[in-house]
Amino acid sequence: GAAAPSLDVRGVRFSYPDGQVALRGVDLTVPRGERVALLGPNGAGKTTLVLHLNGILAGGDGTVTVGGLTVDRDRNTLAEIRRRVGIVFQDPDDQLFLPTVAEDVAFGPANLGLRGAELAARVTEALDAVGMAEHRDRAPQHLSFGQRRRVAVATVLAMRPEILVLDEPSSNLDPAARRELAGILRRLPVTLLMVTHDLPYALELCDRSVILDTGRIVADGATAQLLADGELLARHRLELP
Ligand code: ATP
Repeated sequence: GAAAPSLDVRGVRFSYPDGQVALRGVDLTVPRGERVALLGPNGAGKTTLVLHLNGILAGGDGTVTVGGLTVDRDRNTLAEIRRRVGIVFQDPDDQLFLPTVAEDVAFGPANLGLRGAELAARVTEALDAVGMAEHRDRAPQHLSFGQRRRVAVATVLAMRPEILVLDEPSSNLDPAARRELAGILRRLPVTLLMVTHDLPYALELCDRSVILDTGRIVADGATAQLLADGELLARHRLELP
């Protein structure tokens, strides 16, 4: 049979403790190697869905399966699920806290038990993938914002995730940094789910997009086709520049 998809979300519902219903039954399958944009207006539930994928948010109904492994609520699989779902948060400084770039990238795999040459190779591989190998001994706070975002991506790649989840990867980037990151992300041999309000970026990187609104997936198809549908965009408060 076919390999398990990188991500399989079935019937996911989630409410916050204050009763706010954020996800109302989400189904989403991302085959291995695909790049998918997750679009939707403010408050649609995109962040909630991302946090749900790796068990950061406990509770709710439905199942999340990552590379064939299901997030089980008794938490036996939680550490492995967190390794498989690599989330790059919007603010790179949330993922950079050690004195050097290489130490930040080594932190995750060292926690998994990697040591010595194996660990060093993992760090080099991740930094090469984002074009930051020559900056490995620098302090993250001395890098540009775009460079820090690329190092944040490397900290996640160093875990060899099943799926790379990016929250607003183009935010706060100047045009050059934005183009550079797009080239890097397009070349990564990894399944990608990208949360964004930046529709041109979605078009540039992702053949497929899904639109989430009020906790439900309301469209799922070719990015070019969705973005050509002005009524659909207006209905879900999505704006092309
Ligand atoms: P944005 O594009 O603005 O980041 P989003 O699509 O990521 O929005 P979420 O942040 O997932 O949307 O929010 C989904 C719903 O859950 C919204 O109604 C929001 O107000 C609510 N919500 C988000 N976080 C919490 C929280 N900690 N407690 C209660 N309700 C919350």
